[in-house]
Amino acid sequence: MAELIRAESNFSRPNTMVQSLLLDSRQFSSAENVCFFALSGKNHDGHLFINELFQKGVYNFVVQQLPNGHYEGANFLVVPNTLVALQKLATSIRERSKAKVIGITGSNGKTIVKEWLAQVLQSSFEICRSPKSYNSQIGVPLSVWEMEEHHEIGIFEAGISKPGEMALLEKIIKPEIGIFTNIGTAHDQNFKDRDQKIEEKLQLFKHSQSLVYKKQTSALSEKIESFAVLHGVELLSWSEEDKDADLFIEAEEIGESGTRFTGRYKGNKQEVSIPFKDKASKENSLHCWRLALEMGIRSEDLQLAFSQLATIEMRLEMKSGSHGNLIINDAYNSDLESLKVALHFLENQGRKRKKVLILSDVLQSGLSNKEWSSQWMELIGHFGLDQVIGIGKQFVKSDLHLKTPFDVYSSTEEFLSNIYKYQFHESAILLKGARSFQFEKISTLLESKSHETVLNIHFDRMVHNLNYFRGLLSPKTKLMAMVKAFSYGSGSYQIANLLEFHKVDYLGVAYTDEGVELRKAGIALPIMVLNPEESSFDDLVQYQLEPEIFSLNQLRVFSKSVKDKQGDFAIHLKLETGLNRLGFIEEEIPTLLSHLAQQPQLQVASAFSHLAASDDPDEVEFTQLQIARLRKMTDHLSEKLGYSFLRHIVNSSGISQYPEAHFDMVRLGVGLYGVSGNASDRKDLKVVSELRATVSQIKHLKPGDSVSYGRTFVAESLTTTAVISIGYADGYRRSLSNGIGEVSIRGKRYSVIGKVCMDMIMINCTDGDVKVGDSVEIFGDDISIYELAKKMQTIPYEVLTGIGQRVKRVYFME
Ligand SMILES: *Cc1c(COP(=O)(O)O)cnc(C)c1O
Repeated sequence: MAELIRAESNFSRPNTMVQSLLLDSRQFSSAENVCFFALSGKNHDGHLFINELFQKGVYNFVVQQLPNGHYEGANFLVVPNTLVALQKLATSIRERSKAKVIGITGSNGKTIVKEWLAQVLQSSFEICRSPKSYNSQIGVPLSVWEMEEHHEIGIFEAGISKPGEMALLEKIIKPEIGIFTNIGTAHDQNFKDRDQKIEEKLQLFKHSQSLVYKKQTSALSEKIESFAVLHGVELLSWSEEDKDADLFIEAEEIGESGTRFTGRYKGNKQEVSIPFKDKASKENSLHCWRLALEMGIRSEDLQLAFSQLATIEMRLEMKSGSHGNLIINDAYNSDLESLKVALHFLENQGRKRKKVLILSDVLQSGLSNKEWSSQWMELIGHFGLDQVIGIGKQFVKSDLHLKTPFDVYSSTEEFLSNIYKYQFHESAILLKGARSFQFEKISTLLESKSHETVLNIHFDRMVHNLNYFRGLLSPKTKLMAMVKAFSYGSGSYQIANLLEFHKVDYLGVAYTDEGVELRKAGIALPIMVLNPEESSFDDLVQYQLEPEIFSLNQLRVFSKSVKDKQGDFAIHLKLETGLNRLGFIEEEIPTLLSHLAQQPQLQVASAFSHLAASDDPDEVEFTQLQIARLRKMTDHLSEKLGYSFLRHIVNSSGISQYPEAHFDMVRLGVGLYGVSGNASDRKDLKVVSELRATVSQIKHLKPGDSVSYGRTFVAESLTTTAVISIGYADGYRRSLSNGIGEVSIRGKRYSVIGKVCMDMIMINCTDGDVKVGDSVEIFGDDISIYELAKKMQTIPYEVLTGIGQRVKRVYFME
């Protein structure tokens, strides 16, 4: 390996076998034959985790510089750039492989095409393919690393976000056959124009023999054709409009259960059916068909495989169930890597709960039964599970040797009729089943009954926002994530778990109870409590929460309550600089200092203040005054206290507006949830949640009929209305009555008629196609939270935190 990546080696254990690569210390599951690549990026330095991993038994490291300290028995490979080394390693694996490699790029559908191709080709070939949508500068080398001698075909996807990236991926994948799915708007902002983006993507096929594409009158089609001439690439075309295409689709019949294509391929009539009717699925399947024909798959095999194409769910969903259970549903189950990702998620979110895995047969692993079961059993062994349940015929109990209690059922039905035996409570249950096993039946049974109004929260967007703000900080600046008020209405420990996983430095809550709840869920990060009531001081100490101290009286009571206790207690001093809410004024500081001098048990962990108008460009002067006051007061404190503490003042909008005031830490609140008062932040953030309700009933009104309390709406003509399952008790304000509020159903807007009720609203859908059970967007992609806030004459903060507790929170991870 040292040779392949041209590293300077520092071996204490030569002749070590490396079987898996680890790039992220949080994904650690086993130290055996692992090599850690210490990647360093703008917000992250892998070198900081070497010691932690070494303690866990990892002893192979690829690094940019040797760490200080003593690492007996460890191997270090030193390279100028660890990412480049990772890519070199993958390149050399690709060069040695005899597999035929298929490379896929395009704006949409890459992962689906990859998965479907694997489904279509797996009966004839041994296949290696990218896990999930691993298509980046890091994901591609990791995918290619998985190629082994027995693989006959490799299928890899490549995604880029800016010019220059594809050339690097091309070197690693070196596809013999390519597929260009389509071109859309993703990442447009990083390219000069659409043409540049197409050209850049085409670089993947520079050295390919052939390329599959859809022949049509379009700029993309033309570009592909001239590229092929220039680089001597043979084109493998399909088309619905151009009879000259190799595969011409003559007819397309849409029936109850899907679409049937009749095509003419090199003079012969051919047919396949797919179980989908939407445009994107049709296009994706036709790319696969053209390629499968090229590979010479027999037409009976093709027909069978296409009729069984399965939807690819690429996200993981988490809901709370009955009896305090947590249900994690990950339908994407076709490879070991995704099982590993889901198990990490289970571990991270499950914490102190019992952990249960319900796993179905794997239909598309590309491995033999035996190989698959030995691999997943080994993987499971690294996670502390309490119960494993296997569903399907592939599980043969006698073959299984697990320490964890393990039960096998031949079908989902059989398990469901035995589910009462388990009496799950306070458990975290991971459901990982192929679609045909219909695990949704299990999750429905385990879910708590509640009305069908949901706040969907997207974890990946929150991580995106976190990284955006981290990018604005210098590496030394710490970050406190504000998770007060149920994480701005988005949940509590779920968000804190995610933030802890992503290594924020501190959490901030409003009241002691909120902190206690996080501790009970297993959160170990330091937690500051903004407004701890005196009556809660015992809990505060017992759960190692750190109080904000804002008055002399409060300081006295707190010191009294810890007097008889052992150890030091961290406190945070709140200083008044202009908000005129809580905090010590400047004149109190001498008294404060003399109190602190008598209380050596109390350690000032930080001193801070809060800005009154950080998002208001008209108040820059006042904000600067606040910042100067904090500086002056904390200088004074630090001089007299004789030890150092953290200083902080900026909230979300202060982070981008006042970089000079980051001090030692920033407090990130609403920005984490994707909301900002600054236009500049707003364009880079993603709102993490969307609020959705359901249509409960449709009504047809005659002229003169009225709607809702007080009869404020009276129909003048035939009117159709829909009743929607959300009301003011869920946070949908009564002020949205009578046409002020709007909702969106499948992209079309409808306005509220009559008064908003406690649990319901009515909309006018006379000119729409609305059905009972339709999902209704209250805010989200169509109706922004800013728009809704404006109509409610408030700010997004209040919209988020006002969402009622009975609205179910559902978490997604793409
Ligand atoms: C809520 C809060 C924050 C976060 O404010 P955002 O505007 O949501 O970023 C920061 N500091 C204190 C003291 C707070 O109460």
